[in-house]
Amino acid sequence: MGTRRKPEEIVELQRRNAELEILFDTVRDLASTLSTHEVIERLVARTLRHLDSEIASVLQVGTEGHLRILHAVGLPEDVVRGTRMKMGSGIAGHVAATGEALLVPDVELDPRFVRRNHERYYTHSCISAPLIDQGRVRGVINVNNKSARTPFDETDLRLLGAIATHAAMALRNADRYEALLEKAQRDALTGLANYGHFWTVLESEVKRAARYERALSLVLIDIDHFKRFNDRHGHLAGDRALARVARTLAERSRTHDLAARYGGEEFAVLLPETGAEGAALFAEKIRVALEGMVIDADADDVLTASVGVATLGARPVAADLVAAADERLYEAKDAGRNRVCAGD
Ligand code: GH3
Ligand code: MG
Ligand code: MG
Repeated sequence: MGTRRKPEEIVELQRRNAELEILFDTVRDLASTLSTHEVIERLVARTLRHLDSEIASVLQVGTEGHLRILHAVGLPEDVVRGTRMKMGSGIAGHVAATGEALLVPDVELDPRFVRRNHERYYTHSCISAPLIDQGRVRGVINVNNKSARTPFDETDLRLLGAIATHAAMALRNADRYEALLEKAQRDALTGLANYGHFWTVLESEVKRAARYERALSLVLIDIDHFKRFNDRHGHLAGDRALARVARTLAERSRTHDLAARYGGEEFAVLLPETGAEGAALFAEKIRVALEGMVIDADADDVLTASVGVATLGARPVAADLVAAADERLYEAKDAGRNRVCAGD
């Protein structure tokens, strides 16, 4: 025979069970995305719902020990953008500094809380928990004002603490995934986009350009007589030269251009919103810049490049654009190298 439970014990068990269900749901939700941005948005949305409150925000501890708001619901936009807190000051700053969750039943009565935004939004009750990753406080989650206008209590604080523990793990996984993804898209020697990423972006830019009837051009660059350069100066000097070429391309590209390492000593620059004329001008600018580049203190060779330019035509096919630019590139080689060939 089992022990008979007292009614208040049953209530407590039911409450705990509900808490666990909330937690389980939240963990599953946060773990099901690998985007840092989405983890944070879901975290804020879940917290608002489960703690039945009006305001929630996630703050990040910056490198200089300041806190800034990454995402918030229920706060005025300018407060979100403008808020920077020092570690140790204010509730979030206090939580970040101590690494301990904090419950403030009535903010007006707590001298630790500096209320600078008093006129902008009203806070009466607040709980705050640290996002701790490998022993370091990376951020803070703040929740203000229960919808029922009752103060937060220890149960709320415990639930937020548990959510924060799992959120910190989800955030770490998402950060790592994003860092890996970023690495997987780059070429290790030059830091430019690699071949795979170039093609992914190319395909999507071709679709976009076709759908919105926008211009799109491609510039292919191949270093002239690079085999000879390697033979004369060694492979390591060759590697350094390629890294310099990459830097020159990156410096001269605009924000929405994509500079990539297409293969060995071949590079590509994708130019969205750029027609044939603009692309030819860009290509010539690149050719001149490469010719004038200081390659290596020991290698007094001048590097030159041949450049092929193509612009997306009536048939919006990525492979066609590459083939067209490649044909122009071979023309440039045939015509004597160190030159740009463009046109249909
Ligand atoms: P062309 O003017 O016809 O383009 O002559 P080229 O010598 O540049 O052309 P080719 O394609 O025959 O040779 C390319 C050379 O680029 C050969 C290869 O050793 C070198 N190369 C390719 N990738 C790298 C790299 O990562 N580092 C170094 N150092 N050299 C590389
Ligand atoms: Mg080549
Ligand atoms: Mg070459």
